[in-house]
Amino acid sequence: VYALERQTPGFLRALRVAVVGGGPAGLFCAALLRQSGGRHQVTVYERNPALETYGWGLVLSESALEAVRAADPPTHARLVEARVTFDAIEVRVGPEAMRAGGHPYSALSRHRLLAILQHRCAELGVDCRYGTRVDDLADLAGADVVVGADGINSRVRGRIPAFRPHLEGDELRYVWLAAERRFEAMSIIARQSGEDWFQAHVYPFDQGLSTFVVFCREEAWRRAGLDGAGEAGSIDFCQRLFAADLEGARLLANGSRWRVFRTVRCASWHHGNTVLVGDAAHTLHPTIGSGTKLALEDAAALVQALDDSPGPEAAFARYEVGRKRAADSYQAAAAASREFCAHLGSYVGAGTAQFALQLLTRSQRLDYDDLRRRDPDFIRAVERRLAKDVARSVPGLDLSVERTPVRLPLRLGRHTLANRLVLTPPGTWARAAFGTAAPARDELRRAAGGCPGAVLVDAATLPPAHAAGRPWREAVERLRRRTGAALILRIRPDRWPAGELAHAARLAAAAGFEVVEVDLSPQLADARPDGVRGQELEERWERAEAVIRTLLAAAPDSLAVSAAVPCPGRSPDDDAVKAVTRFASMLRAGGGDLLHLLPGPGPDRPASALDHLALTRCAAHVRNQGRLPTMLGLDRQTPGVLNAIIASGQADLCAVTSCEPAFWTEGADYTVSDRRP
Ligand SMILES: Cc1cc2nc3c(=O)[nH]c(=O)nc-3n(C[C@H](O)[C@H](O)[C@H](O)COP(=O)(O)OP(=O)(O)OC[C@H]3O[C@@H](n4cnc5c(N)ncnc54)[C@H](O)[C@@H]3O)c2cc1C
Repeated sequence: VYALERQTPGFLRALRVAVVGGGPAGLFCAALLRQSGGRHQVTVYERNPALETYGWGLVLSESALEAVRAADPPTHARLVEARVTFDAIEVRVGPEAMRAGGHPYSALSRHRLLAILQHRCAELGVDCRYGTRVDDLADLAGADVVVGADGINSRVRGRIPAFRPHLEGDELRYVWLAAERRFEAMSIIARQSGEDWFQAHVYPFDQGLSTFVVFCREEAWRRAGLDGAGEAGSIDFCQRLFAADLEGARLLANGSRWRVFRTVRCASWHHGNTVLVGDAAHTLHPTIGSGTKLALEDAAALVQALDDSPGPEAAFARYEVGRKRAADSYQAAAAASREFCAHLGSYVGAGTAQFALQLLTRSQRLDYDDLRRRDPDFIRAVERRLAKDVARSVPGLDLSVERTPVRLPLRLGRHTLANRLVLTPPGTWARAAFGTAAPARDELRRAAGGCPGAVLVDAATLPPAHAAGRPWREAVERLRRRTGAALILRIRPDRWPAGELAHAARLAAAAGFEVVEVDLSPQLADARPDGVRGQELEERWERAEAVIRTLLAAAPDSLAVSAAVPCPGRSPDDDAVKAVTRFASMLRAGGGDLLHLLPGPGPDRPASALDHLALTRCAAHVRNQGRLPTMLGLDRQTPGVLNAIIASGQADLCAVTSCEPAFWTEGADYTVSDRRP
């Protein structure tokens, strides 16, 4: 029989499948199990009566619908019939709004979605037992397969320790309401109550109705008195706060308590004959709104794996491997989205264009080029606004020329950098931290209009200090001839102790460098959230501050001053990020011109998508709160990513690495990088 099973896809034997939970994951899974040959006996246990549910409308992306179409065309056809569609995201802050097109969404009520899935289950002969709560898995002992589709507080998950779940709360509260008004786009609205920011995610899902989910930080929720307000009081508060957006429309509740969301991750999604799907296995913060999509895709993937595998265990393993990657990636994006919402206050000050860009690229699933492809007019409007802002500090900027964000000049001290790319030599921190290959150099040079705005030269790669005078001047002239760029000299306090910093600054100015940067990373290398803390961390920052104060006092006026520090936090709430922000404020107050944020504490930090997201988020926070221009280096150095970083105000300059020093010393009579001491 086993040999036959190996030759024949799917099972020879019909399975008895018990599905716990009749949400989107459980119902779709049950329907697909029946639909694939009809031989399995499938029972859904749902604790609520049919069609009793919470919440209002859901959005489904094109890819979610495509997954449904591929698995079950009749369900897809009914969803398409029931949905409303829109294709723009509108960002509202204060009196201003900006709309970006090219983001097609479908939306329908959760109630309607469940009705369609319940109907499909009935059609296909699924035994749906509504009003039946499963408390004890022993009640399902007769089942060959148990599917845990019982949502975020899954009892199935809770009963089997082998799933090893990790549950993480967050600092946000949310309430799921509806507005009696049809908004025309996915609208993200930021409104202030006193000191605190509230964010609403609003989109149409039915004739004359829109979902209206409001998020705020826990402390804002308390300050607004919402902890004791009840449903009516909460509606009243939101009605007043978003009055300009509601234009007189009422807000409606449906089991709408203020809740704290919990992110669920499981080390394993299956054990023995039991497997988890949807929210039971993984949840996505509602600021990203794709949990139903993942739930439906999980269901389709599980049934496909059962069809293709010789037995349930093999199918579960296959399903988990295939789906975990998707869940991890969405959870990283959701974490970024949640953080963005939790720190709204540090982004809104940047103006609507930058805020919109930050919002649209917050999880880095979209970059600048994607946004341009989707809506060139929106990007042109962004570029016009950014150029106008820059023209305030760069008089004479020709506003009739269209420029991508990295091509905008930047005023730094007394100098104007031609664009936002700073070429850093090989072996810099970014490369050490991420160990990546060379960026697409030619592409980057094209993006910058031929050459970088500045080149960062490590003093350690120049002739020794005692020979500084003429050789340094020659190096400067050669680099300037080759690149036309401003030049930044990087020095390290271990090579230039406090007494010699003034000397270094004078040499730099005399040689013709525009900027001197002191690299404080060796002093601060352990300033990571899980590293040095408390007193020792503070002392390290104090020493770093002393170094930069000495340099600021010594630097001639012609020289702009920069400090390079690691930005190791994962969230703006981390002590390490707060310390960097305080340092930025100190640097600005002392007359400093630039803060160079280095990615993480060093090579011991693993590279991952989450690290990039955390870094850009923390960098934006430091920049906005410290009110100082910043430079940031990332390993993903495509023009689309770099333009998004500049346009969204995550940084003012991007450090880009070239693995070929010949780029800037080619044809020279000595190679700068050969002269390491
Ligand atoms: C405010 C908010 C907005 C959202 N917006 C979106 C959006 O726009 N788009 C999107 O894709 N996703 C969105 N989501 C996420 C989405 O709601 C969930 O990810 C999705 O419902 C998960 O489906 P599920 O079937 O896994 O779990 P659920 O939908 O939670 O279903 C679980 C079912 O199991 C039942 N159950 C629980 N315990 C038992 C038991 N012991 N016995 C029997 N039955 C039980 C429950 O009654 C429930 O019906 C949003 C979530 C929130 C909170």
